[in-house]
Amino acid sequence: MAEAAGLREHRFVRLPDLREASDIPETVFEGLPPTYIPLRNPIFYSFAASYAEETGASVIVGGHNKDDAEVFEDVSDEFFSRLQGALRAGSVRLRRQRLQILRPLRRRTKAEVLKLASAVGVPFELTWSCHKDGQSHCMSCAGCASRIQAFSEARLSDPLTSAHRKIT
Ligand SMILES: [Zn+2]
Repeated sequence: MAEAAGLREHRFVRLPDLREASDIPETVFEGLPPTYIPLRNPIFYSFAASYAEETGASVIVGGHNKDDAEVFEDVSDEFFSRLQGALRAGSVRLRRQRLQILRPLRRRTKAEVLKLASAVGVPFELTWSCHKDGQSHCMSCAGCASRIQAFSEARLSDPLTSAHRKIT
């Protein structure tokens, strides 16, 4: 996807010690799905801010949608406002760059995001929604189920679902 978008650099960050709520015994994460990874967004955005400080970037763009904000507190407007302030407070360079965290999809549901993506020609066959690692989507995990539901709500055809049906 990054290559298709023509990015100048695409850096991978590996976080093998992060665990999903369902993999953490005897801990209750009230109101959160079993796929919740404790406070992952501060971690992800800290990596992005580190990269921004390194490269001089002044914007970090997050792809969170309205549906995410209804479930996860670390996707709220208040959280991002304070995080942006904290990151600027922690770095002269980020302050000078006036680092901004933008979330242009935050007022749209996942189905609305799909409609927008379709309108601008996003290659859905290159996107990844599955919570599992592998060569193809499992089409049964929570991420895949959410994808299937969103494509259905948006009344769009998912090339991955079509491909999966041909294989099975
Ligand atoms: Zn899956």
